[in-house]
Amino acid sequence: MGKRKESCSFCGRNDVPLFEGMDGAYICPDCIERGHQIVIEETAKSQNAARKAASNEFSLNNLPKPQQIKDFLDQYVIGQDEAKRYLSVAVYNHYKRLALAQGVNLPAEAQAYKDVEIEKSNIIMVGPTGTGKTLIARTIAKMLTVPFTIVDATVITEAGYVGEDVESILTRLYQEADCDLQKTERGIVFIDEIDKIARKSDNPSITRDVSGEGVQQALLKLLEGSVVNVPPKGGRKHPEQEFVHINTQNILFICGGAFDGIERKIAQRLNTQVVGFESSLKTQTIDKDNLLQYIAPQDLKAFGLIPEIIGRLPILTYLRPLDRTSLRAILTEPKNAITRQYQKLLAMDGVQLTFEPEALDYIVDKAIEYKLGARGLRSLTETVMMDLMYEIPNKPIQTFTVTKALAEEKISRADTSRLRNAI
Ligand code: ADP
Repeated sequence: MGKRKESCSFCGRNDVPLFEGMDGAYICPDCIERGHQIVIEETAKSQNAARKAASNEFSLNNLPKPQQIKDFLDQYVIGQDEAKRYLSVAVYNHYKRLALAQGVNLPAEAQAYKDVEIEKSNIIMVGPTGTGKTLIARTIAKMLTVPFTIVDATVITEAGYVGEDVESILTRLYQEADCDLQKTERGIVFIDEIDKIARKSDNPSITRDVSGEGVQQALLKLLEGSVVNVPPKGGRKHPEQEFVHINTQNILFICGGAFDGIERKIAQRLNTQVVGFESSLKTQTIDKDNLLQYIAPQDLKAFGLIPEIIGRLPILTYLRPLDRTSLRAILTEPKNAITRQYQKLLAMDGVQLTFEPEALDYIVDKAIEYKLGARGLRSLTETVMMDLMYEIPNKPIQTFTVTKALAEEKISRADTSRLRNAI
């Protein structure tokens, strides 16, 4: 290599060092670099194509069955069996719809129903905050082979107002799908806090309220399956970008919300229903402590969702408030249980951490006493563990037990208002 009279056989340059090849061929560093780039790009392209082909295949035989999906959820989510079953079936059906859209070979039994179109069944989960709605959605996402995104309905406003347009939901999904339109159109979206866009009054004639009904109308467009123009980079910051046209027909929407106070609407409905000669019988069988189990679409309407939206969310399920036993189980049983996380962290220091059962009972008692729910379990456990996590790695010990006395000492010294704010 050196400065020569010869020139690069590719670009013709002769003012740079050249590498000499066979038969009097030369190449300059720039062309080497360009060639290298081309190789990288081509390799990436063929890898992408292989990945795409793999993810495009929905064979009816290897779809995860509802029971498998639920088994997976069980590893992470305590209780909430009904919601988990509904979700498992919905995800399974979603896969089947995708398989049909892809034209898979149908078993003979299904041939007779060739012309039957299976409609999309979006879902709405109602349950107090901190009972596992988002956790279920996130856990499902872990096992999915389709793009999945979680969005918060509170940030969405009508076009033209401060906040995000409804289309931004699809922008997220599109980005989650590595900007692959086909993949996006098969995705699943979890819309959290859907109750926050409820109309403030059940009376439709009231003056339009910007935050509620307008957003619901806009959302409807996505739920009912239409082609939506979506800014691929999202937001209003890139006015120059070209829209992508996303068909939402096969996108599954799962909505979740606490619907605070909806029990009153349920009670009202049940009361009016039970007026009549059968009333005494019916009121006896109603479990007044958990009215949410009787939730029906008309209660969502009474709460302020527009009927069109409710119609597009045909599967309605609920989550139970977590009782003492569930809270106790949440501390230790899920795969990612908070106590296991601490055990793992300290195991990395060579220390085996154990929790006295009474210490865990105490943490649960405090979560209930301070009305902190499942989210409080984490902040309470963190309060107990904070100093220990600082001190233990420096100690020449191989085991450590968190006793009830220790938990009491740490929690009693903590500022409970801070605990409440932490959740
Ligand atoms: P929300 O119903 O408000 O969406 P989350 O799913 O965000 O509640 O729950 C908050 C946290 O509480 C979760 O991250 C998890 O640690 C814990 N948690 C809540 N419910 C459950 C449950 N059923 N099983 C296991 N952990 C739970």
